[in-house]
Amino acid sequence: MPSDAIQSRDPDYLEGLNFPLLEARLQDSGVNPVHAKALFNAVHRRLEGALTEEGDHLVPPLRRWLSSDGAPRACPLESITETPSSDGYTHKYLLRLADGAQVEAVQMGFPGRFTACLSSQVGCAMGCVFCATGQMGFARHLTAGEIVAQALHVERQLRASRGERLRNIVMMGMGEPLHNFEATMTALEILTDNRGLNIGPARVAISTVGHIPGIEQLTRHPKRYSLAVSLHGASDTERAALVPVNKKWPLADLIQTCRDYSRLKRARVFFAWTLIGGVNDSEDHARRLAALLSGMDAHVNLIPLNPTEGFEGDAPFDERVRAFQQIVQDSGLPSTVRQRRGIDVAAGCGQLKVARANRA
Ligand code: SF4
Repeated sequence: MPSDAIQSRDPDYLEGLNFPLLEARLQDSGVNPVHAKALFNAVHRRLEGALTEEGDHLVPPLRRWLSSDGAPRACPLESITETPSSDGYTHKYLLRLADGAQVEAVQMGFPGRFTACLSSQVGCAMGCVFCATGQMGFARHLTAGEIVAQALHVERQLRASRGERLRNIVMMGMGEPLHNFEATMTALEILTDNRGLNIGPARVAISTVGHIPGIEQLTRHPKRYSLAVSLHGASDTERAALVPVNKKWPLADLIQTCRDYSRLKRARVFFAWTLIGGVNDSEDHARRLAALLSGMDAHVNLIPLNPTEGFEGDAPFDERVRAFQQIVQDSGLPSTVRQRRGIDVAAGCGQLKVARANRA
């Protein structure tokens, strides 16, 4: 796994400045920081990208500053492909960043409760065997501005196509968000700011493969976002076969870290279990999963596998999924079988990018 020291160059993007930092930048540049609110609003609510041209309503000192050398600029995101699912509710965007790297953002949901699924890295270092992003390897971390810009892109499309707003954010796209902790936290601080998109912290979910140092940092973090942990196996051997980082962060340590998180944050922890036919979908697996989480404030999300090129596995039959869920529920753990929305747009993390690469 690459060192955490491998950070992307940090381009100076407006989208990546939280409110206090924006005020400080204005102050340092001799612009009255009282104007920060109007600029933050223009970026995150009015969604004005080319501020020097579209931001005519901004006061002259702000416009002068934005067009000066050394001022932050808007994050350039170029949409390469936009793929709607057949039901029209899931929409996957493949986006090109300034350095040519490509990431994905997904819009999903229903009228009144749309969610953006955002990427935190280009590729991923965690190497989960059934995951298209894991098969790509790690390229670099995204900056806070690049993460925020994905959400603003989805918001812009939602407003234009449906007149709707984003209600939820899930950090469940390409990459392990807790491996890119600082940028992810800065991005979420910006996205939950009530002067901007104003997504409630309870409507933000961070999905991790079990990055223990990151969960510990999250436990100490002042905000309480939803934590979703991918398990997929109830013993070290089984889990390590699917999630190689289990060798570094074994199951017993991970579960204890989650118990600490739940207790100290007074929060329910969500556990994801990708059901792979003949691999981890037996009644014995269900019983061992239930035993592992016994006594914790936990919820189990069961996800029949999204088929991925490069991994020979399939989703179980429906009756096996139902039998698995029944055992989990009978143990007292609430559980949900996640709808496989967007399977026709390859909306598992990284799958659209891999599909394009394979075609090329
Ligand atoms: S499932 Fe998530 S953590 Fe695992 S390789 Fe894919 S993107 Fe990375």
